[in-house]
Order: sequence, then C-alpha cells, then structure tokens
Amino acid sequence: MSRRMGRVYDLKSLFDRLNRIYFDGRLSDIQVEWANRKPERALRSVTLGEYFADRKLIRISRRLDQARVPLFFLEHILFHEMLHAVFPRDSHKMHTEKFRKFERMQPDYERAKAWEKKNLKLLFEADQMNLFTRKKRIEL
Ligand SMILES: [Zn+2]
Repeated sequence: MSRRMGRVYDLKSLFDRLNRIYFDGRLSDIQVEWANRKPERALRSVTLGEYFADRKLIRISRRLDQARVPLFFLEHILFHEMLHAVFPRDSHKMHTEKFRKFERMQPDYERAKAWEKKNLKLLFEADQMNLFTRKKRIEL
C-alpha cells in the first residue's frame, strides 16, 4: 500500500482521468497522495481531502480507500480538491460562487452529495463516537 496506490483505488490514475476530462490536462504538475492515517483523538472534524497550494499537493483521506466507498464519491472529493488548484482561495471565501458553479458541472455531483448525506457515517463507524458530532468538515 503506497502513498499513491491504495488498497482499493489508484489515486493517480483517477486524478489523471479527471485531469484529462475536466481540465485539459492542465493540472499535471499537481501531486496526489493518500493521507496517512493519524490518530484522531480530540479531533471533532474530519477532512476527506485537502489541497496544499504551496506544495501543489492533493491529499485524500484513506477512509475513502474502501470498497464500500463508490468510485463516484471518491471522484467527487478529488475533483473538488482539483478545483482548489484552479481557483485560488479568496481571503474571505474558500468556495466562491464560481467554484461552486464548476463543482456542480461534474455529472456525479448530485449523486455524490446524496451518497455523502446517507453514508458518510459509515466511514467513521470504527472511530470514536465523539468524532462524529455535528461538526464534520469535508472540505478544506
Ligand atoms: Zn473545498
């Protein structure tokens, strides 16, 4: 299990595919990797994906590297982070109108949001209950 190749999903090929389809290959200087699982002790929020602009790096939570996580959901998270590489964060707003508009252009957007609402809890069932309080943070 490497940083790029998970148990179930190969992030790099998913990234390459999305990059080709939605970004004309313009994001090929971005790196993508699975995040190493950290003990999440006091954390009240969970990050499924992150984009580090300074390192041109997208990091995706290993929680999403499970067979019960559908491909379209992982792609939705990945696509979201890729959009962060395209639309620099505004000092006031992480997700601008423009960002949201593009995010909704992905055909699986609605399906992914619905799945998230229904199933996200499943991803965390092995973790401490207090981890799953109201405050979940999907986006960065
Ligand atoms: Zn975001």
